[in-house]
Amino acid sequence: MEDVDPFEEEAPGTRFLLFPQPQFLDEFQLPELVEVSSPPGTVGPGPSNERMYTVYPVGKLGPYGVEDIGPGSSGRFLPPWQGKTLAPALPDENGHFDHIDPADPAFEAAHLFGSAHFTLDVWEGYFGRPIPWHFRRDFDRLELTMLPTMDNALIGWGFLETGGTTEYGDEYRPYSLNFDIVAHEIGHAIIYSEVGIPSPENVSGEYYGFHESAADLVALLTSLHFGSVVDDVLKNTHGNLYTLNKLSRFAEMSVNNQIRLAANNSVLSEFAHGWTDEHDLAQPLTGAMFDILVDVYHERLLVRNLISPEMEDLSDQLEGHPEYGEVMQTLFDERYALDPDGFRLALLEARDYLGSYLADAWAMLDPDMLSYYGVGQALEEVDQAITGGQFLRIIRGNFEMREIGLIVPGPRLEPPGADSHSASVRTFVPD
Ligand SMILES: [Zn+2]
Repeated sequence: MEDVDPFEEEAPGTRFLLFPQPQFLDEFQLPELVEVSSPPGTVGPGPSNERMYTVYPVGKLGPYGVEDIGPGSSGRFLPPWQGKTLAPALPDENGHFDHIDPADPAFEAAHLFGSAHFTLDVWEGYFGRPIPWHFRRDFDRLELTMLPTMDNALIGWGFLETGGTTEYGDEYRPYSLNFDIVAHEIGHAIIYSEVGIPSPENVSGEYYGFHESAADLVALLTSLHFGSVVDDVLKNTHGNLYTLNKLSRFAEMSVNNQIRLAANNSVLSEFAHGWTDEHDLAQPLTGAMFDILVDVYHERLLVRNLISPEMEDLSDQLEGHPEYGEVMQTLFDERYALDPDGFRLALLEARDYLGSYLADAWAMLDPDMLSYYGVGQALEEVDQAITGGQFLRIIRGNFEMREIGLIVPGPRLEPPGADSHSASVRTFVPD
């Protein structure tokens, strides 16, 4: 078995090494070998291809954006970077990039490109077609660029710029090596392209919350395309994903960061009087989507006879009971041991249901006056079209649990802060 090529059954792609979770969470973590869809030989130095190119500028004084940069300035600082750059990451003789060691300075560029490409691949799969860039009017390609002096990562008009942080002591940790952050920014790009930008008089607070939620869901579902992340989640829970959000004593369990964010208990009434940060306002919607993922997974376990209807009934009866966690975990421990691969398949099925439902639903949304309730309606429509309404109860129940459709969030209470995306270069469209 050891000589089996894990990719031999797919059309050959270009190989990269990616860290599915920030490397500093576990210094012994190994990068995972992935293939992006571009055939070997089509990704050049940088890396670069026809959709995006990576540069590591030298002497770049500030981030791209709309700031006034002096007298006579147009007020815009946009790609392409014209100045000096560090040496690009180079492909090996077969066109792959997995030969670059994480200690090599060129690894950062390869990781940034590989992460962005991998994320786009997954979501173009869910959309069933290419996703055009929202800035295509002015630029053919996305510039992936690194700016170590910036403690932020953002996507804007023609660029995805990543900085880094020194908040963990003196050591600089580049966001280009944080898969979740890069995938989240590509998520924003997907929403700008597929949902669009509302007119200023018709922008709802929920539009901003929706954007953050969607970007987190893009990162979450893309993470679940790494074998090591799926293994980690299943081994830690023995397939009992309800432990991730229903039992706080498991909160410190070693699971993917995106799952920790998504498995929340936030409800919309927390924002009935208003909101200040769209990342917080996003939580009820993200939580509803995560619970849908877990419930669909549960359905797939039932269909595959991996759990019994009696187990399902017991789960319903014991909910809220102090013994719930232990009783259910014991049952999952037994069942999971019998067929771990079956549990894995059920999780991948649930992942792909949610991914393609989200893609279809997002493509239906209008950015003007966007509401979480409208997102739920779109999901129900997609479900009706695809399965005849098989998941209607799950979708509607989880939206109601988050008080979506029952409560309308109040106004924005403070002007957008520095970390707000809504007032940033992301939404800037040159005239
Ligand atoms: Zn964001």
